[in-house]
Amino acid sequence: SKVPPIILNNGIEMPQLGFGVWQVPDDEAERAVATALEAGYRSIDTAAVYENETGTGKAIAASGVAREELFVTTKLWNSAQGYDSTLQAFDESLGKLGLDYVDLYLIHWPMPDKGTYIDTYKAFEKILADGRAKSIGVSNFLPEHLERLIDATSVIPAVNQIELHPHLQQRASREYHAEQGIATEAWSPLGQGKGLLEVPAIVAIAQKHGRSPAQVVLRWHLQLGNVVIPKSVTPSRIEENITVFDFELDPEDMAAISALNEDRRIGPDPADFHVA
Ligand code: NAD
Repeated sequence: SKVPPIILNNGIEMPQLGFGVWQVPDDEAERAVATALEAGYRSIDTAAVYENETGTGKAIAASGVAREELFVTTKLWNSAQGYDSTLQAFDESLGKLGLDYVDLYLIHWPMPDKGTYIDTYKAFEKILADGRAKSIGVSNFLPEHLERLIDATSVIPAVNQIELHPHLQQRASREYHAEQGIATEAWSPLGQGKGLLEVPAIVAIAQKHGRSPAQVVLRWHLQLGNVVIPKSVTPSRIEENITVFDFELDPEDMAAISALNEDRRIGPDPADFHVA
């Protein structure tokens, strides 16, 4: 495959670069995932709340790519947190995907005030034990949420998927994950493409290497060890975003991008995000 893997804390390999489908309607997701699989992506990141598990599953089925070569992630939505409701929501996600297991199942948000993520994760441990998810993990968990989870349960999450890009570098979380053996997966790795890809320092590095700003930002993540899941529905960009394993940023490029941190979120603060 085009994309090298990282090894999760359970020994399972996960491609370091995958394809995200947030905000892509179901029928369009089917086309986009098909294009991504054609371009060589093997990891797909969806979620129950994206309402495109069906289209994602159709593209997977039609692709002819062997199931064991794929790494499919989906996420439990907030309204389904709790032990029994999680088991039921997981069945629905698998059914929509048309799969008999997922590679990674994530709790989408901690919702710490609800106090249900421990029970939810216990259902995840059951799903893992039954072989219906090969790995389990979380998303948008702050170190304090992970600490509580790790104290109260037996399987250390394989992955924490968090908002992470040059304007929000998440040093405290990355350090805590490294201590615990949790892989850091970056959502909105391109900062949603907004201002980030026009930042002069990034544009200059792109010109120096004869690459695009998006490729430079993805390289920065990869060289730090982050898993990335850039999203695009444009075939040329889907191709461009996976063509990042044939060049390297120099130490001074890495330092220049690391100097862009502003601790600025695009998305919600996990400490008080409750939407059901
Ligand atoms: P992203 O950082 O991947 O940016 C995507 C946008 O950047 C595209 O819509 C396009 O406008 C632009 N873009 C993409 N490739 C480009 C290129 N080569 N050149 C120029 N512009 C380009 O943002 P995202 O979609 O928010 O995040 C990626 C994935 O992360 C999502 O699809 C989803 O799977 C996941 N995610 C998870 C959570 C969570 O709470 N767990 C939240 C948001 C996103």
